[in-house]
Amino acid sequence: MAVELKGSCHCGAVRFSLQSSSAVPYQLCLCSICRKVGGVGGSINLGGFYETSNIEKGKEFISVYKAVLNRDTPEESIASSERNFCSKCSAMLWLYDKSWPELVHPFASAIDSPLKTPETLVCILNNSKPEHVHLPEGAKEVYDKYGKESLESWHKKNGLWVE
Ligand SMILES: [Zn+2]
Ligand SMILES: [Zn+2]
Repeated sequence: MAVELKGSCHCGAVRFSLQSSSAVPYQLCLCSICRKVGGVGGSINLGGFYETSNIEKGKEFISVYKAVLNRDTPEESIASSERNFCSKCSAMLWLYDKSWPELVHPFASAIDSPLKTPETLVCILNNSKPEHVHLPEGAKEVYDKYGKESLESWHKKNGLWVE
């Protein structure tokens, strides 16, 4: 049985729940999108199953941001992923991408259920972080691009995948 995660935005207008097998907030993404939408230091996304996701309240307040990639360059384009957020308080809720229709990726910051503390933090896309942004303290693996593991394979390798 997967774990149930309950989440909400900051103002409380939006409340949601979903089932997750990969609910350890171990991977901090330092890309420009994750830093700008998540605050100075980046964002952490969890894994979840789209068919189990349930918006309990506030569907009308949810807006979607499709990120601009390579802004101000000839390669500028729009990301396929959809970042859902509360239009009243701006809190990021979850990421959905039609390329992986069975999955949804809640922002760990939106989850109110207790989460496990990872022993080691995995920091990815470190090469897009400006100098002044400090990495969090404690044990960590740092990658210039992506790490070796997917959300699923990392949880399985560390015995943290919940069937
Ligand atoms: Zn809100
Ligand atoms: Zn990112």
